[in-house]
Amino acid sequence: MELRFLGGATEVGSLGLTVHDQGRTLLFDYGLTPTDPPTYPRPAPTHIDVAFLSHSHLDHSGMVPILSRLPKARLVATPVTIAVADLLTKDSLKIARLEGYLAPYTGSDIHAMHARFTAVGRRETFRHRGIEVELTPAGHIPGATMYLYRGEKDVLFTGDVQTIPTRLVGGAKPARCDVLVMESTYAGREHPDRHETERKFRDKISETVERGGKAIVPAFAVGRAQEVLMTLAHSGFEIYLDGMARAVNTIYRAAPEYLADAPKFRHALDGVHVVEHPGDRRKALREADVVVTTGGMLDGGPVLFYVGELYRDANSSILLTGFQVDGSNGRQLLDEGTLTIDETTVRPSCEIAKFDFSAHAGHSDLVRLAQDSGAKTVVLMHGDHREALRDALEPSCDVVLPTNGKSFTL
Ligand SMILES: [Zn+2]
Repeated sequence: MELRFLGGATEVGSLGLTVHDQGRTLLFDYGLTPTDPPTYPRPAPTHIDVAFLSHSHLDHSGMVPILSRLPKARLVATPVTIAVADLLTKDSLKIARLEGYLAPYTGSDIHAMHARFTAVGRRETFRHRGIEVELTPAGHIPGATMYLYRGEKDVLFTGDVQTIPTRLVGGAKPARCDVLVMESTYAGREHPDRHETERKFRDKISETVERGGKAIVPAFAVGRAQEVLMTLAHSGFEIYLDGMARAVNTIYRAAPEYLADAPKFRHALDGVHVVEHPGDRRKALREADVVVTTGGMLDGGPVLFYVGELYRDANSSILLTGFQVDGSNGRQLLDEGTLTIDETTVRPSCEIAKFDFSAHAGHSDLVRLAQDSGAKTVVLMHGDHREALRDALEPSCDVVLPTNGKSFTL
């Protein structure tokens, strides 16, 4: 069995893994890195039997439309992932147009991608010409799945994984396998206690509101915005939601089996005012205690309108809820205390705080997942500090730290 990473082995982004086994070629995820301009993985092989998409985040899904140009490639994902990937890939085309760079595929490729997809439900098995792959929930975000490939060896590909249950999705359970291909975003790092984080987050909003300010909560549209809204259910705040999370909510509402608690999810959304048109943003600004909005790293989207209006107000706050990649506006805000809005760099007077609502397993959770899988070989990917995990896992199993573009056999 021969494996090769097209990208995403040594970094968080542009993930793609090919597996050649018994005359078949499989691809697991095919993403891009959504920087400005984006960076891309290596080209996919010209023949792929089946490509499996773990979840819709662009670093896993962003290049899947281009696979529709391969003559016979079939695509597999959960129905929720297919629906959200449609939104995100179309949005990445829109951003390419706005920013003036060439996108790697067209709207027709996205259209053609849908004809290739087979929707496979959670905990179901995909079978095609002797290929057998089982789906098992990955936690992380609704619709995210791990894939267990039954080949010469049983290989479990985690995609992004979270073993701790959150308000939005249940935690991933380990599956037995010979080879575990595991993400390692949080290798060497632990998360703070989630309940404590939630409490501090709500307290910070209370403080903001009590001194007459408003809290702007930049949040990723897929997963994070919903987790934040569920955290704020019953809080009594006037909550406004703006940006692409609105469309994602509609998809999640229609797929209750992918949520930890669908009635609680619906209830949390019922208490939220949705900004339907850009013209309603001033009203939201007047009446809101909290505005939850995209983009999560302050690089674009409606968040820049709200931040642009409030950054001079010392009573207001910007509460970051996600990872801020190097080079992003959010990272600049954390490191230098400045923001770039419409090409002007400003120093906000409002309060800045960051909360860890990560949807990735922390170091100890990853170690436990690997141990409980019984894998003899663990392949670490999707991380820039994988050595910390290797040191924790060896010598009870063999650990492989692959590099991009270089094939290795198992
Ligand atoms: Zn993800």
